[in-house]
Amino acid sequence: MQGTVLVIDGVATNRIMLKVQLTEAFYSVEQASSVGEVLSAARRSRPDLVLTAMTLPDGDAAAVKQALRQDEMLANVPVIAVSHSNAPERRLKALSAGIDDVLPQPVDDVILQARIRSLLRARSADEDLHLQRDASHGFVLPLSDRAGRSDIFGATVALIAEDPETAAKWQESLSQQVPCSVLCHQLGDIKPLMQDPVADVFVIELNEASAGPGLRLLADLRARAATRQSVIIAIPNPADPHIAAEALDRGAHDVLQAGFDVEELALRLTTQLHYKTRNDQLRASVRNGLRAAVQDPMTGLYNRRYAKPFLDRTAKRAAENGSNYALMLADLDHFKRINDSYGHPVGDAVLIEAAKRLQAELRPVDLLARVGGEEFMIVLPGADEIEAGVAAVDLCNAINSRPFHIDGIREPVEVTISIGAVIGRGNDDATQSVNDLISAADRALYDAKNAGRNQVTMGKKGTAAA
Ligand code: GH3
Ligand code: MG
Ligand code: MG
Repeated sequence: MQGTVLVIDGVATNRIMLKVQLTEAFYSVEQASSVGEVLSAARRSRPDLVLTAMTLPDGDAAAVKQALRQDEMLANVPVIAVSHSNAPERRLKALSAGIDDVLPQPVDDVILQARIRSLLRARSADEDLHLQRDASHGFVLPLSDRAGRSDIFGATVALIAEDPETAAKWQESLSQQVPCSVLCHQLGDIKPLMQDPVADVFVIELNEASAGPGLRLLADLRARAATRQSVIIAIPNPADPHIAAEALDRGAHDVLQAGFDVEELALRLTTQLHYKTRNDQLRASVRNGLRAAVQDPMTGLYNRRYAKPFLDRTAKRAAENGSNYALMLADLDHFKRINDSYGHPVGDAVLIEAAKRLQAELRPVDLLARVGGEEFMIVLPGADEIEAGVAAVDLCNAINSRPFHIDGIREPVEVTISIGAVIGRGNDDATQSVNDLISAADRALYDAKNAGRNQVTMGKKGTAAA
């Protein structure tokens, strides 16, 4: 099954007709006949989508949406209303009540199926984002479940029409309705659309002459990295259910099936920007959560979880192009004494300063990670033996050449570091070699400690510990 649709209609024959239409498209169908039954039927069937008659024996589609909002798990299930009347006022009223779309009766199968597909696609993308957010332990501020003017304030809207007159006319009327900056473009002139900053919303006219290029532009905007997160609203002009269906299938977030109506456009735009704000927040939260998982909060350096895959990637790349790279393990000397003499907070401040000094010696392509309490891993892609030796001595000097001045401590703190360095060679067996290389760097570090600390030892892979 592709998903479960809950059909709500007081008239049994309507329910049966919709059930046939939906079953043929492989949806599983559940039924209810009144607003009163909605909540229990939805809790039982956990629908992916609700398809309701606009008018029910005990209420209307807005009351259905209201009933679903009582349950957090059902509040965001998309709702399509089917209406006898195609009057714009009824449609606008339903859209402002949070109904996702209103289709006229009898329901055109092509547009119904395209609409269902597009809503289910959006819902599953939304669920994926929530899962990723949970997995990455990201955090997102709660957002109201209703769209409002705050969602659209300051947003940019690009209107794209076949001819400049239509674009200018739409621009003028939309600008009066919404607090957005509205720009207009002609269909042939799409290069500026991809340039930064890209619009938050693209509104594309699809008229008979330009439906083909308009639909191609739509698919293009959805595919490109720069514009993929922007909202796309298509307007068949004049109304054409089949072009509307095609636009939804090409990835439009919404369509104005009845053609241009500025109030309807403003409403749909507000709802879609509300979703975009929420999704942008979710994505940022996933990114932050992922970053937090690989970052040491105290020094801001990457941790071991990031360092090991970085080293593996460096080894793989070196194997591909036959180049070398350096791996170093560095450990602050007698760090325990610093803690014992000045206290743990001073130890922390020394670690933070040491991380800064080491980082300042490295190139942007290098990696510095904190892989233990006072232990660091350094990877220098492309470095040979001589370059690695020079870099390691510089790192050593960055710590020992000037004492550390820590807030709250009058006397300067003398700090030194020991470093074990080894060279990874691209023509080694990559998988075997990374673990061997880490062991070799560890042995070299041990040798540097044994030889009196505050120095660098170059190690060799495969040589036994002294
Ligand atoms: P060596 O020169 O042989 O490396 O001696 P050392 O004293 O540096 O090494 P040892 O492993 O004996 O002690 C490391 C100390 O680092 C012990 C631990 O309490 C301290 N340490 C580990 N993580 C932190 C941290 O985040 N902050 C502070 N202040 N101390 C830490
Ligand atoms: Mg130490
Ligand atoms: Mg240590």
